[in-house]
Amino acid sequence: MSGPILPGATLGVLGGGQLGRMFAIAARRLGYHVRVFAPEEESPGAQAADWHTRASYDDLEAVERFAREVDVVTFEFENVPAETAEAAGRHAPLRPAGELLHTTQDRVREKRALRGLGLPVAEFAVLEGEADLAAAAETVPGGGVLKTAAWGYDGKGQARVHEIGELGAAWRGLGSPRSVLEAWVPFEREVSVVGARGLDGELALYQPFENDHANHVLDVTRWPARITPATRDAAHEVARRVFEGLEVVGTLCVELFVLPTGEVLVNELAPRPHNSGHLTIDAHDTCQFEQQVRAVCGLPLGSVRSQRPAAAMANLLGDLWAAGEPDWAAALALPGVKLHLYGKSEARAGRKMGHLTATAATLDEAARLVTTARERLVARSSSPA
Ligand code: AMP
Repeated sequence: MSGPILPGATLGVLGGGQLGRMFAIAARRLGYHVRVFAPEEESPGAQAADWHTRASYDDLEAVERFAREVDVVTFEFENVPAETAEAAGRHAPLRPAGELLHTTQDRVREKRALRGLGLPVAEFAVLEGEADLAAAAETVPGGGVLKTAAWGYDGKGQARVHEIGELGAAWRGLGSPRSVLEAWVPFEREVSVVGARGLDGELALYQPFENDHANHVLDVTRWPARITPATRDAAHEVARRVFEGLEVVGTLCVELFVLPTGEVLVNELAPRPHNSGHLTIDAHDTCQFEQQVRAVCGLPLGSVRSQRPAAAMANLLGDLWAAGEPDWAAALALPGVKLHLYGKSEARAGRKMGHLTATAATLDEAARLVTTARERLVARSSSPA
């Protein structure tokens, strides 16, 4: 096998979002060059890269040209079409591999892969046509959540099925023939395990993150998650089996539900750095993006120790811009608060524009810092004149 890809080489990233941007920043800090492939004229990733190949994902000639100009290709956008990944993989190593992308792009394939590895998932039934409705009602009699198999993220492409009689209407409402009906999980909390696996199989997992969602979108992450050591070990064991079973090379996130009994169920996988892991940039010896760089380059992984006992992250959605530019100075006046903005010019409601991080001696203090900082961003405009 050839040796590691060393600083000075060029790393290719499929996708131009904020994950690509933070990957590019980590890579360039290590002395790599970065080329981003993204169809948009302006993108958070391209802004932070050395070069931008601007073309559509189905322009396979452009994809091949891009891949010839880089030493390794990775992705930050998991809905890269399979043919695009394949075309890139003809000219440079694709890490993680296209098979992982293929598996995680589709909820049906992903759930079957998880079950195949013997991992715990909520009861589910696959719907591919009208004829499957009756069997689904039998497998998941209590209803739950109907999710489209493809292109779902942040709660998009989902419908709550409160009782099984609503299934047909919900399925037709989603307009999606291929979907999964998942049993409702009465979880106590949601956690995620982010980690990285190197080319040689070395594995490094962060302690689990605890995630609060608002309107299906990640709102606040606390680290470490408030779970028992037994639940933490169970979460790590699930993650280890995912990384090894799916032969992941790179950073990946396993999203988990924690039941009141302390047991865990896998919700879904993200085959790339994850929003819940953003706080590793400020809180850990090596962040999830640097781990991705190291893993795809065949270098040793870094330490996942934290520098302080606790950390928190609050997302900044476009809604915060509704009354004008947020008051950055007010938030940054709080000692220890770090601001990350993704360079997006248009602040649409629900769009992830950036995040705030804080580290502290306690979890409560870290969470208080990021939520107070976020409130300060809009306090000026919402206070009476
Ligand atoms: P997903 O896009 O599948 O990650 O779902 C988004 C969010 O919806 C999750 O983070 C949960 O908060 C909630 N959710 C999804 N599936 C279920 C389920 N089967 N039971 C309970 N809550 C769920």
